[in-house]
Amino acid sequence: MSSRHHAIVVGLGAFGSAALDALSARGVRALGLDRFDPPHTLGSSHGRTRIIREAYFEDPFYVPLVRRAYTGWEALEADAAESLLHRCGGLMVGREGGPLVSGTLASVLEHAIPHQLLDSSELNRRLLALRPPDDHVGVLEERAGVLRVEPCIRALLDRARERGAELRTGERVTAWESHDGGVTVVTDRDTYQAETLVLAAGPWIGGLLTPEAAARLRVERQVCLWIDADLPDRWPVVVWEPDDDRILYTIPDLGDGFKAGLHHGGPETDPDQVERGVTQSEEERILTLLARLMPRAKPPILNRSVCLYTNTPDHHFLLGRHPDHPRVLLAGGGSGHGFKFAPVIGEMVARLALDDDDEPVSPAASGLDIPTAFAPARLLDPSPDPAQ
Ligand SMILES: Cc1cc2nc3c(=O)[nH]c(=O)nc-3n(C[C@H](O)[C@H](O)[C@H](O)COP(=O)(O)OP(=O)(O)OC[C@H]3O[C@@H](n4cnc5c(N)ncnc54)[C@H](O)[C@@H]3O)c2cc1C
Repeated sequence: MSSRHHAIVVGLGAFGSAALDALSARGVRALGLDRFDPPHTLGSSHGRTRIIREAYFEDPFYVPLVRRAYTGWEALEADAAESLLHRCGGLMVGREGGPLVSGTLASVLEHAIPHQLLDSSELNRRLLALRPPDDHVGVLEERAGVLRVEPCIRALLDRARERGAELRTGERVTAWESHDGGVTVVTDRDTYQAETLVLAAGPWIGGLLTPEAAARLRVERQVCLWIDADLPDRWPVVVWEPDDDRILYTIPDLGDGFKAGLHHGGPETDPDQVERGVTQSEEERILTLLARLMPRAKPPILNRSVCLYTNTPDHHFLLGRHPDHPRVLLAGGGSGHGFKFAPVIGEMVARLALDDDDEPVSPAASGLDIPTAFAPARLLDPSPDPAQ
């Protein structure tokens, strides 16, 4: 049996690497375990780029969290002395009353986010290569940008290591148990003891919880394409809602192609049995929509990738104490929009690990209070359906 740690973090993707870093920054003796060797291409944190934006159509309560996350990414960028965040602006396009634009406007108004609301002719005048339908508008947010995924994870893990964290990769956690004295974590190589356990296993987190909780999570296969688009050098992130059921996102070329994908709409998958090849019909679903919005963004396809979303039923994250095991913290359920928040999620985990009395409270301006919407109890201990 190995020595005792204050905290063990299981999974070193976006959430776990940030948690390990934040714990180590506070002097916590932490061990990070991963079954693979992050950053790797089998979970949710790969594919070169992720969008970061303050205008948050999903719900305005995320805005203070993104603001705090920006500070975290900028500090990491300074420590790593490399470019992690590309600032190019972001444009949300759709019908004015549609979920994307109305949600974006709700968040920019509530939080006074600098923005411009542009009609389709103005959009077309400013961005010549964009062909939005006549009844679509765009909300332009100058501060939005793109995070470089793999360098971000590497920088978080390097800094955690420099701050004293121990990392073990290629080691899979097979079981855990919490008891009066702490937690015991069993891997395919060893057994560890700690005071706090952080489960940040991404698409595999369900397998470390109860079968009922696992069944409430949906792991969704997602496809991205990189193409050789003929677009101006300064081009924003563009997210387009052609109808109320679909969202196309595009990320400008940072040197290895223009990226496009659909947000949600993929099949459910077992994270251990993922089909890694991309079919022609999956490519066509993306390319057909792209051709309508940006006729100049067309094949050749330079690259393809398959990645996984871990969706909670309400698409809010899973962050907080396990309702039955207070020494066990959950950080997961990214639901396709979690990467940008990694630094603030790391800070929240560290705060919980160090403060036994902490409870989820309502969202507050600091960006560090854990929203009640993230409570693990809704997955692990949901109230019985009154209709049943
Ligand atoms: C195609 C795509 C596009 C996205 N776009 C955006 C975007 O634009 N903006 C944004 O903010 N977010 C975006 N997201 C979401 C974001 O990337 C995820 O929410 C985030 O990366 C989730 O990180 P994670 O740490 O939960 O999971 P992961 O990165 O998958 O990390 C989990 C880790 O746990 C390890 N692990 C699992 N089981 C065990 C075990 N038993 N023992 C030890 N280790 C284990 C795995 O090896 C893995 O390294 C996107 C996601 C995808 C797939």
